[in-house]
Amino acid sequence: MKIAFIGLGNMGGGMAANLVKAGHDVQAFDLSEEALARAGENGCATFSTVPEAVAGVDAVVTMLPNGGIVKSVYTSDVFSRAPAGALFLDCSTIDVDTAREVEKLAREAGYEMVDAPVSGGIAAANGGTLTFMVGGTEAAFAKAQTVLEPMAKKVIHAGAIGAGQVAKMCNNMLLAIHMIGTCEALKLAEKAGLDPQMFYEISSNATGYNWSLNDYTPAAGVGVTSPADNDYAGGFASALMLKDLRLAMQGAESAGATVPMGEHAMKIYEAFCEAGGGGKDFGAIFTTL
Ligand code: NAD
Repeated sequence: MKIAFIGLGNMGGGMAANLVKAGHDVQAFDLSEEALARAGENGCATFSTVPEAVAGVDAVVTMLPNGGIVKSVYTSDVFSRAPAGALFLDCSTIDVDTAREVEKLAREAGYEMVDAPVSGGIAAANGGTLTFMVGGTEAAFAKAQTVLEPMAKKVIHAGAIGAGQVAKMCNNMLLAIHMIGTCEALKLAEKAGLDPQMFYEISSNATGYNWSLNDYTPAAGVGVTSPADNDYAGGFASALMLKDLRLAMQGAESAGATVPMGEHAMKIYEAFCEAGGGGKDFGAIFTTL
């Protein structure tokens, strides 16, 4: 297939390279010359404008920073420039309302579109082991699978358009909440006189078990190896968690849902980022307790 890839940053760079490895012709565009040059080294054909990159393609994949940029790229440069019948896949993490709005505009312009945000970080993007949660019609999902599979460990059809972004925001809100809870429990155990490793061994086999505790233990030297053992370098940056929590709060407001724990988690990450912790792994909340 001929696939346009727009947004070749930390995530998109590796994803586009995996499409090339799978034998697709990838036509790349990014505002950053550096990112574009790296895509060229990875076997993508590089273009200096979006209309050139989307010419003659079967699909357009976007991996961009936010909803405003996604909307502007599609409306100003992709619609009407991509061939009739091209499928659009937005893999960025954006707000649900914008995802639905851009799909509606795509449909009105005669195109099929899916939202396909990912779970998994830069290592999974490079390794082709992302989990995609896809929102769109059955027909669009069937076509999207072929494009997404070389970049994926798993491709899940979440439901109608926007459902991928809903899944992503709910998952990451839950992740933030159980990460903070795990940090608090580990610290409380320690302060109250229980060896945190003993707490880990008990709780990871009891009703407190959860991914943050069992698979990503946020205290150095306790439980499994995680970014905590590397001074919280690498991993999933707190600034990205804050972005996702803000999207979840926006989504909750739009849906009329009450999310007091999510809201509190957002405030905790906001304070941590304002204090300079944005680049640290999100488990570093442990160090603030
Ligand atoms: P990034 O900032 O590294 O990459 C974004 C790229 O988009 C940059 O290369 C930038 O130059 C380019 N760009 C910006 N505006 C553009 C435009 N108008 N036209 C063309 N290119 C443009 O970000 P990233 O970490 O790769 O994240 C991309 C998306 O993936 C975000 O929505 C993020 O929330 C999501 N995400 C990131 C991670 C992660 O661990 N980094 C994990 C899951 C999801």
